[in-house]
Amino acid sequence: MNTTTVRTYSASCHCGAVRFTFTSEEITSGLRCNCSICIRKGIVMSSSYLRPSAVEVEGEEHLSRYQFGDKDVNHFFCRTCGVAPFNTVASVPPDYPGPARPGDYRINLGCVGDLDVLSLDIHVVDGRAF
Ligand SMILES: [Zn+2]
Repeated sequence: MNTTTVRTYSASCHCGAVRFTFTSEEITSGLRCNCSICIRKGIVMSSSYLRPSAVEVEGEEHLSRYQFGDKDVNHFFCRTCGVAPFNTVASVPPDYPGPARPGDYRINLGCVGDLDVLSLDIHVVDGRAF
């Protein structure tokens, strides 16, 4: 029996210029990371990557993109309110152990409506070591 519940979530940056929806298995956990950028943002991210086909973005033109280091990740943020609603994978290093594929999304769960982010099962990932 397949008990997986697939849901559609609605999300936005703070000012509402960038809105997006995505389908995902029910979100019960989140991720925090200690890498140089995540520790500054302090956000809780989706535990899994989402395929581009699962995400629909409105107001993409309001986003700016930040990259650093190996430029493997597109760090997007809203030009008006500064909130970073999601990252996407720009390229996957050959030695990367994870399941990411280019174009995959990781969501800032704080942008998701109807989600009590701090009550999720939160895992800490040692991104600084990558
Ligand atoms: Zn905004």
